[in-house]
Amino acid sequence: MNAERIIHRYKELLAEASAEADRLNALYSEYMVCRKGCSDCCTDISLLPLEWYVLKTDVEAAIPDHHPESADSERCSLLKNDSCCIYKSRPLICRTHGLPLLYLIEEFDLEGHRTGMDEPDWQISWCDLNFTTVTEETMEYLFDPEDVLNMEEWNTRLKELNQDFLECEEGAPFRKQKRISIADISRNRQDPQSPRD
Ligand code: SF4
Repeated sequence: MNAERIIHRYKELLAEASAEADRLNALYSEYMVCRKGCSDCCTDISLLPLEWYVLKTDVEAAIPDHHPESADSERCSLLKNDSCCIYKSRPLICRTHGLPLLYLIEEFDLEGHRTGMDEPDWQISWCDLNFTTVTEETMEYLFDPEDVLNMEEWNTRLKELNQDFLECEEGAPFRKQKRISIADISRNRQDPQSPRD
């Protein structure tokens, strides 16, 4: 698959995730207080090379004079006045902000072998600002397994596309990198040698 096709499929994945997030936002509307100006989730997150490459391309096209409020802060460098300045292009994790998320909990030893559980251990996390009354004891009554974002499934699809990207020419410079900070988009403008290995 060439890079253009991979990026197209990645954008389809983002659109699909947004549609599912919209469905859950409507389902949990009585709990959701997410709004423009609440940026608590917008920390300096790191992305897979494919996500980073597409976001950087979109930032350069949409906001060529982008200057972060601070590229060295713990806040996302794409925040401006508590709003995302690249909202339509935001990566997968940003589309899940505020919703109940299902994760597979895995533990590994120092050599990278899975340890502990014979059966997979799943955990639901949720935003305390939205679901203010939900506790570990009560969450199973509110969150039906069909009505949470299964991050294992979304991340698996994302990782597969990222692997395809690393195998094509555009992805070659990123082959030694597992994840790259969003802040490196800004640093890369000041120093085109970054992000570094
Ligand atoms: S890319 Fe946008 S939505 Fe995602 S963390 Fe940064 S400011 Fe927030």
